Amino acid sequence: MDRPGQAAARTTSAWSRAWIAWSAAALLPIAGYYTVPATDAGAVLQTVLYCLVSGSTAVALAVGIRRHRPRPGSIWWLFVAGQVMYTSGDVTYYIASQHDASYPVAANVLYLAQYFFVAAALVQLTRRRSPQRNTAALVDTTILAVGAAVLWWVFLIHPTVTAPDIDTVDRVAATAYPVMDLCVLTVAIRLMLSGGVRQPAYHLLLAFLALNLFADTAYGLLTLTGSFADGGWTDALWLLGYVALGAAGLHPSMRHLADPAEPRSGATPYRVVLLGFATAMAPAVLVVQNLRGAARSDLVVVGASAVLFLLVLVRMAGLIAAQRRLAITDALTGLYTRRFLSEQLRVESERAARSGGPLALLLLDVDHFKRINDTYGHPAGDQVLVEVARRLRATCRAGDVVARFGGEEFAVLTTATDPQHLTAVAERIRTQINAVPVLVDGHTPVAVTVSIGGTTAEPPQTPDELVNAADTALYAAKRGGRDRVVVTTGLADLAPATAPEAHPGELPELDRSIQDWAAVVGEAARRRADAVPVPASAIAGLCAAWAVMRAPGPGKPAMPAGEARAELRRCRGVQFPPHLVDEFLVLEANGVIGTLDPAPVAADEPVTVAA
Ligand code: GH3
Ligand code: MG
Ligand code: MG
Repeated sequence: MDRPGQAAARTTSAWSRAWIAWSAAALLPIAGYYTVPATDAGAVLQTVLYCLVSGSTAVALAVGIRRHRPRPGSIWWLFVAGQVMYTSGDVTYYIASQHDASYPVAANVLYLAQYFFVAAALVQLTRRRSPQRNTAALVDTTILAVGAAVLWWVFLIHPTVTAPDIDTVDRVAATAYPVMDLCVLTVAIRLMLSGGVRQPAYHLLLAFLALNLFADTAYGLLTLTGSFADGGWTDALWLLGYVALGAAGLHPSMRHLADPAEPRSGATPYRVVLLGFATAMAPAVLVVQNLRGAARSDLVVVGASAVLFLLVLVRMAGLIAAQRRLAITDALTGLYTRRFLSEQLRVESERAARSGGPLALLLLDVDHFKRINDTYGHPAGDQVLVEVARRLRATCRAGDVVARFGGEEFAVLTTATDPQHLTAVAERIRTQINAVPVLVDGHTPVAVTVSIGGTTAEPPQTPDELVNAADTALYAAKRGGRDRVVVTTGLADLAPATAPEAHPGELPELDRSIQDWAAVVGEAARRRADAVPVPASAIAGLCAAWAVMRAPGPGKPAMPAGEARAELRRCRGVQFPPHLVDEFLVLEANGVIGTLDPAPVAADEPVTVAA
């Protein structure tokens, strides 16, 4: 005996194959349609069989909706309504044609109503599948639609409008069909060019649209040449189209047809070829007309070509803008790239030099980031970088250029007016980033701190000088124990290192010391005969690094002089020019630099200066 679960599973599996059963069953009346004898009774039977297929398509759709419960169901009910209109049109046509030889107006109205419902369903479907604005898809759709419209106009609509011997009502109706076909084609193209899942229901729906369009167009062309006959091959196309529509409604994947997805807007090779064909359509029509010796549609072709050129230009502008956006946006964090920062740095420092306006640069480096990677893994490290970038962006002002400078380094180009202001800005950033741990994978808290080095461009400095000065200040912040801010304006005025633990009262002292040392070291560096010029920011940075290492703070003892010297020696030629480090160490050994640490230099610590 079956357990309830097994029975339910079997029912589900049977329903998942209902679309195949429907398709197979619907082929029987279609086969019958082409085999009934060509008698009056046969004609009636043909009509019945035809209406049976188109009408039961509406039923198949309704059953599919009840069974699969798509969200929203309204889209599929629009297809049902379209199908009901079509079958009603057929029935109306058949009944009216028994009494009157002219084409019944009511049937035309019902037939045309089908297009409205189908187009409305497709518009709804596209909106659901790609809810975001997608200008690229819109422009591409318009290009393809204009290309198709030229073809339809020249070969179908214009000949119908100007055909002799048709009364006005029939002429309007005959023109309305290809126009409505174009409308449905346009919304179908829009659907295809947007994103969204492409499961069987999607392909079956497209098969319905393609077969219907093909049959309608063939019908229009055959009618124009007077060679259309009821019961011909075009009927098979319509009928197979309905089978495909019914199968789409019964296929389980119809439930997810309206699910939203990422938009597609890229210029894939396939799409470029398609757009190439569409833009070539207008001139190609002229060539065909010339070869056939037919009347030429010069004005239409010129107008369509102009519109197509404009649309292609709009599309190209969009692609260039997208490329530019990609080039200036860091893929991981969404911040600006270093390249963009460099551009802005050049522009802004020129502006600052011209107008004397404020300009400042902050460099941030995540502390011990390698440890985070090593402990939690590289993907977790990436999540930390993304979150740090988000917090940084949220703390900065709208006009600031916030960039990813390198791996775990960030930069902010801002317009702080003076070092105190810049220090306050940097402190706000530091505390915001450090405020709460970053949640990795939604549950693992990772504590993150950053060190920040900053500089203001006063007096005006070149972009390289700005970066060097900020980098030197950042280095000083690292050497000073990390999780702190160091701001410099260069040699003349070096702002204090503001460690979180530092006592405000001690800062002026520290500040003055750094300035004094920088003046002495700068002078000595200049006097040296073999000295190459050294940027003022490097001198200030070196003195600041020394000060930060040697300054004691709550919870942080002063680094012993020997260790601090060894640290500076390690930076020789890496962070600071070698001869500058040498000069500094000589001055320091001679007691010129002074000390923040009252403890005297130990006698057994020889000061060695590299040659
Ligand atoms: P410090 O406090 O001195 O800055 O120490 P640190 O460990 O942060 O510095 P270090 O420069 O030694 O390490 C930086 C690490 O950042 C090394 C590199 O593997 C890692 N990194 C660079 N780019 C990325 C990235 O995009 N994602 C991840 N997860 N790690 C990165
Ligand atoms: Mg780093
Ligand atoms: Mg780091």
